[in-house]
Amino acid sequence: MRTTKRTTTRSAMAAIGTAGVCAALLTAPGLAQAAPHDQRDDRVSAAAKPAFQMPFPCGTKWQLNTWGHSPALDMVVKGNTGSDGKPVLASAKGTVSATYKDTGSGNTIQVSHGGGWFTAYYHLKDAPTKYVQKGDKVKASTKIGRIGTSGNSGWAHLHYEQRYLASGNFTDERHRKAVHFNGVRYTGSNKEWPSVTSRNCVA
Ligand SMILES: [Zn+2]
Repeated sequence: MRTTKRTTTRSAMAAIGTAGVCAALLTAPGLAQAAPHDQRDDRVSAAAKPAFQMPFPCGTKWQLNTWGHSPALDMVVKGNTGSDGKPVLASAKGTVSATYKDTGSGNTIQVSHGGGWFTAYYHLKDAPTKYVQKGDKVKASTKIGRIGTSGNSGWAHLHYEQRYLASGNFTDERHRKAVHFNGVRYTGSNKEWPSVTSRNCVA
């Protein structure tokens, strides 16, 4: 969305309503946003989901919101005190499977983690090939980009998704699943977690 006001996410939400918070809704017209996401996830998550960690350095604290686009998360520094330029890491080891620029998601990276699991990172500050290239192997600690406002993003935040696609190497928002970090599930419509500490601690 296009508001330029620097606000807390709560007041941002009040200003713009529950729809259209972020690119996801705008780039996926016609996709159902309802409960089946969560139900599907419970079946799929039994299938060897990687031990995903937050895509931020060990020990840093973040606010997570689903707004109207659960199971996608929008993430800002705890207190939304300024996220622009903060490093974005991979959530687990894997291979960079896509790097592109989109009018909605902006500078975007997808990482394949094996077993059909992917992560997606939107609105990055820099060109998506600045730190990694398609085909690069990454570790959970690998910096793949920086938080920004590219695409249809009104404030600096990372839009983040965990996805499952049994066969193929390019995912989209139809493949989104509930997010787990360090084994804890963060999902549900219009939910907020004001302080979650990254356990992405393995070098
Ligand atoms: Zn978003």
